[in-house]
Parts: sequence; structure tokens; C-alpha cells
Amino acid sequence: MNPCRIAILGSTGSIGLNTLKVLDQHPGRFEVVALTACNNFKLLEKQIKKYKPKHVAVGDLGLSYFKRIRPKGIKFYSLGDTAAIASLKEVDTLIIAMRSAEALKPFLAAVRAGKRVAPANKEALVIAGGMIMSEARKYHAQVIPVDSEQSAIFQCLDGQRALPAFVHLTASGGPLRTVALKDFKRMTLKNILAHPRWKMGPKITVDSATLMNKGFEVIEAKHLFGLRHDQIKVLIHPEAIIHSMVEFLDGSLLAQLGATDMRLPIQYALTYPERLQSGIKSPDFALLGQLTFELPDLKKFPALGLAFEAARRGGTLPAVLNAADEEVVDAFLARKIDFLSIYKIIEKVFTRHTIVKDPSLEEIMQADEWARRETKSILENL
Ligand code: MG
Repeated sequence: MNPCRIAILGSTGSIGLNTLKVLDQHPGRFEVVALTACNNFKLLEKQIKKYKPKHVAVGDLGLSYFKRIRPKGIKFYSLGDTAAIASLKEVDTLIIAMRSAEALKPFLAAVRAGKRVAPANKEALVIAGGMIMSEARKYHAQVIPVDSEQSAIFQCLDGQRALPAFVHLTASGGPLRTVALKDFKRMTLKNILAHPRWKMGPKITVDSATLMNKGFEVIEAKHLFGLRHDQIKVLIHPEAIIHSMVEFLDGSLLAQLGATDMRLPIQYALTYPERLQSGIKSPDFALLGQLTFELPDLKKFPALGLAFEAARRGGTLPAVLNAADEEVVDAFLARKIDFLSIYKIIEKVFTRHTIVKDPSLEEIMQADEWARRETKSILENL
């Protein structure tokens, strides 16, 4: 069997590193054709030595660094050209591990080239999921999600002839689940980054503290599985053993369970429909004793309600939600605003937006830019 040829967009982040670990587990089965990274070009250099990709995209600092040392046999691209990498003839599967809406262009390029796309990135599906999935159908591209909840739903639906009546997206509840609302104003960046279940990057950890991350997953699930917003339910499940569930019309449910290890959904997306050994231990149910569930508290986590509203109203609203959230979370990570201001600012931008129905790509990008400008001006005038 010829090795499966992989491109990883964002190889130095946590999903990128986990993807490389999965590849290491199966020597000979995969070939790394392309890697991209934003800033961490020193780590990228190590990865280049080990995996020998022929195509590399990197931020400007990295580009001038590699220009100086001129590694042989590699074509370099600027980060703006990742769409060219995504549609390369010699790429079979594209892992989208980079964050931000910049993933949209390479995502669309890959589905239009009929690739298998394994997105861990949420932003592209949130802002343009409808467009991506209709292009994927048109060009017979496979979109196999890497996000653990979406992977769970995909796995539950695989081979099913019946459509789901509901999906139950599970959420660990984030670092503030057991913190009272009155104590939220005291929460520091350090408190927030101590996430109990999943090891993730800082942006997504903040999003899981506000439950905006789960809200984005609601919008993602709507597009990935062709659901209405009212077919999607969110369930807090602190043990994070059930990664999501699908409910059918007859009331029967299927769930996908496993360790909280991103290598599982990554490997599944890479090897689907096959399953290979992963070396990851499955949960010990006797040791766990019980699995618990509760409904999300929308008073504590109003961002989830906002995301449901964006899922319901659609158009350019999800793009605005995403862009405002990115800007505001960046400000929180830079210690410019406190935790409670995150929601307040996003809500302001959200309510000021005039929705464009059935937007073109250009209109989506305009809404994204508008929301960033609007958010920045609120941040500057605090
Ligand atoms: Mg998730």
C-alpha cells in the first residue's frame, strides 16, 4: 500500500504535535508532504529534519531564516499561500490544525481539490460551514472532523441509514463549572488556563471557560451534519468520557466513548474507515464508578446562548461572533480586560451587526473585518 500523503497546517501547535505523534506510531503508513507554522520556526526546523516535507509555509520571520540556511529540496511559501499547499496534487489528506479564520481559504481549496480534510480548526466551519459542506459534496471531498465531539457524532452516524433526530454535544464544563457566578470577577488568566480535562491551547481554553467553545461546536455540528439548531443539545459531562451522542427518532441513542486524548480523533480521521492500534488506554469504568451529567447554566455562561442564537439566525452572524471572540480573547490573554468583559464586549458587537442572509465568501470576510474593527474600537475606548 502506498503511504497516505499528509499536509499539516499548523504543525507546531498542540493538534499538529499530536498529529505527528500519531504518524510516528505507524511508520511507513504516512508520508508528510507539507508542514506549515506561524511563528515557531525553530520547532518547525526540527520537524523538517525529521519528516522531510517538500512544501513548507511559514511566517515572515521563518521565511527569512530559512532563506539564509537554504535547506535543500523544499519549496517555501508565505502563510498567505497555504491554499496552494492545500490543493497540491501530492496531498491526499489535509489536517487543519491552525487556529483562526485564516483556515477558510485552504479549507475551501482542499475540498475543491477533492481531498480528505480533517479539520481541528473550528473557525472556518463556524463562519462558512454551509459553503464548505456544499462544496465538499460537489467535489466529493471527505470532511472528517478532528474536534472530539464532532468526531464522536461522525462515528455514531457512520453506516447509519436513519437520520439523527437530535445530537447531544457533551462538554466538560470548563474550569469555571464549579465556580459561583459571583466569583467570576475574581478569575485570573491563571485560574482559567487550569483546564481540568483536555490539554489545549490558550485561546480554546478561554473559550471553554466561557462555553463559547461549545457554542462554536453547535454551529459546527449544524453544518457538518446538516442539522437545525433545535436538533442540537448541549450536556455538561465533567468526566468527558462520552464525547457526544446521537439520538434517533425512536428514542434510541448511540454514544462514542474513549480516553480524553486528541490522538484518538486525529488517528480516526487519518485512517477512516479503518481502525488501527493507538496505544491509548480505554477508560476503566469500574475505576470511574460513575458518569455524571448536568444542563449548562446559561446565566453563568451566556456565550452559549449567543452561539445558539447565531446558529438559529445564521447568515453573517456566526462570522461576527467568531471574529469578536477572537479579538476579545486575545485582549484577555494579553491581560487587557477581565474575564467578565469577554462576554459583555462580544454581545455588544453581536447586537450591532446587520445580518446578511446567504452571504458570499466576500460578504463573510467583510462581516469578519467589520466585527474586528468594531471590537477593537470598543477595546480602545474602555
Ligand atoms: Mg471539542
